[in-house]
Amino acid sequence: MSRPARPHLPMRPLWRCRGCGAEWPCQPARLALLVDYREDRTALLIYLGTLMVEAGTQLSQLNGHVVPEDLAGRFLTWARARGSDGSS
Ligand SMILES: [Zn+2]
Repeated sequence: MSRPARPHLPMRPLWRCRGCGAEWPCQPARLALLVDYREDRTALLIYLGTLMVEAGTQLSQLNGHVVPEDLAGRFLTWARARGSDGSS
C-alpha cells in the first residue's frame, strides 16, 4: 500500500515541506529543482535566493531569530555548482 505521492512544496509561512514535513527544501525537493533547472543553474540560484528572502521574512516574524547563514546553507549552498560545469 503506497500513499499517493505528494509534491514536495513549501508550506508558508512555516517553510516546511507539504510532502514530507521536513524543512523546505527537503532532499526530494532539492533533487527535483536540480533536475528542473539542470540547464540553467543561475536561474535556480536566483529563484532560491528569492525564496530565501521570503522565508527569512516570514520565519523571522514567526521566530524572531533567523540566522541568515543557516538560511543560505539551506537554500543556496547545496545548489551551487561544485566545479562540475566548468565555470571558474
Ligand atoms: Zn519533502
